[in-house]
Amino acid sequence: MAEARKTPVEASEPGVMDFDVVVVGAGFAGLYALHRLRGMGFGVKVFEAGDGVGGTWFWNRYPGARFDVESMEYSYAFSEDLQQEWNWPDRYSKQSDILRYINHVADKFDLRRDVQLETRVTSALYDEEANLWVVETDRGDKVTARFCIMASGNLSTPRVPDFKGLVDFQGEHYHSGLWPKEDVDFSGKRVGIIGTGSTGIQMIPNVAKQAKHLHVFQRTANYSLPARNGPLPKGEVRDHKADYAARRKAAYFTPFGIAGYPPPEKCAIEASPEEREAKYAAKWAQGGTISYLFSYKDLLVNEESNETASEFVRARIREMVQDPETAELLAPKDHPIGTKRICLDTEYYETYNRDNVTLVDVRSAPIEEITPSGLRTADGEYELDAIIFATGFDAMTGAILDIDVRTTTGLTMQEKWAAGPRTFLGLMVAGFPNMFVITGPGSPSVKANMVVAIEQHTDWIADCIQTARDRGLSRVDATVEAEDSWVEHVNEIADSTLYPRANSWYVGANIPGKPRVFMPYVGGFDRYKVKCDEVAANGYEGIEMTK
Ligand code: NAP
Repeated sequence: MAEARKTPVEASEPGVMDFDVVVVGAGFAGLYALHRLRGMGFGVKVFEAGDGVGGTWFWNRYPGARFDVESMEYSYAFSEDLQQEWNWPDRYSKQSDILRYINHVADKFDLRRDVQLETRVTSALYDEEANLWVVETDRGDKVTARFCIMASGNLSTPRVPDFKGLVDFQGEHYHSGLWPKEDVDFSGKRVGIIGTGSTGIQMIPNVAKQAKHLHVFQRTANYSLPARNGPLPKGEVRDHKADYAARRKAAYFTPFGIAGYPPPEKCAIEASPEEREAKYAAKWAQGGTISYLFSYKDLLVNEESNETASEFVRARIREMVQDPETAELLAPKDHPIGTKRICLDTEYYETYNRDNVTLVDVRSAPIEEITPSGLRTADGEYELDAIIFATGFDAMTGAILDIDVRTTTGLTMQEKWAAGPRTFLGLMVAGFPNMFVITGPGSPSVKANMVVAIEQHTDWIADCIQTARDRGLSRVDATVEAEDSWVEHVNEIADSTLYPRANSWYVGANIPGKPRVFMPYVGGFDRYKVKCDEVAANGYEGIEMTK
């Protein structure tokens, strides 16, 4: 149960509340929100479903889980002391190192005392009359707070497809996002992995090294680029740290919130085939996804240009995979490169050259059911000791919609988002005063370096709350007009690119029945930040602040 700690109530506000702010989730977002708001003198309570902090990096412990953005960039910038003292061993850190980092942050900033673990928020009710949020949990807590911050994550609601027969499966089964803490040993086992997104692609080479035989059930091929991961050279780390503050600042002026990649100036269609080939080859050798997307400036807006970059990767797949039929199945043809999250791998394609790995095309012959001893597709039966679901998440809206969010005036989030999420800047939802979302739908979120996006959001929210406090006001709500025009803008930008061409979780395509709405803002983190800063500079234009 939440301790009945009363925090000082601001002089301008009548009534008593348990906390100034309740935060949902103790991942990168929730922990920074706690630190930032506590620093402003607020009483903050964080509820976290896991039995440890870390969010995504607490839950996703599957073999091969690691960053796909470089460690030196994908980490907190708010403390110079922290970024100087921490040493990332690898260019793309593995999950155990990331979790160690987050735990270090929790200890260094004394965050644990305000985090209640193993507690899932079940409902959040805005009491219009009292101007308070009433938050309830699955542990029986019922607390009130002026503000409610959803730091519940974009990819935190794991999804196992509704396959017939799973309950009768005699072997072990796992979802990548709910991986056990103890090591799982697949030695000597016949394993099936369903799903070839970023998760499956990171996991497959690792499971293949252990399993007696691995069947990979692929519905859609994805583009994956070599990570070229390895230990971070000491000199590189030293140089980076010497310039850390400037690099962090520079990240704010880039479309992905990642510094160190000069933006391209030329279009692919303006280059000769030889020039393009040389450029893509250099990027391929360098590794990393941003680097490749930054080959030319029109790759995400011009189909013809994109095809040159897509075909370069297909050609590499055909070179790496010995069996031509398998290579053809692995070469994506149904979407332009970059319109789905590009995967980053270590020896993914080469894994299909192993004798103990078989690729099964479940596009042409879908999985029909899980049987007690394996699974059956439309054209075959597979005997399996273990099944791994790398089948993704109810992305971007799942975690918020799992909570019964409503107001005493009768508005519910389920209804409000029935046709797809609507937000102002991905930060606020009109009609739900004093509720903020960190990296919500309508913000760059997953299309940017998440930690940079999280810090920018949290700082903006903190400044907004501070402004209301300075004005003696305690109710903050986005207007419907501001929200409508933001949603329109997000859609316009998406429609001017190739992104909507892919059936991805960006549009909710992986969840049967989910409204097809393009959820992230793809206009670039830099542009987005300018807009957020403008809103603040114009006295929180589009937001009503009242008593
Ligand atoms: P995902 O991209 O949604 O991929 C899910 C996979 O499962 C897809 O291949 C999908 O096929 C397949 N699938 C789903 N239902 C299926 C069914 N009924 N039958 C057959 N196949 C089915 O999920 P994810 O790989 O977990 O990645 C989600 C996101 O998490 C990534 O895009 C990335 O943003 C993030 N992530 C990041 C990292 C990192 O930073 N290092 C690592 C992992 C994940 P279809 O494509 O045909 O639907």
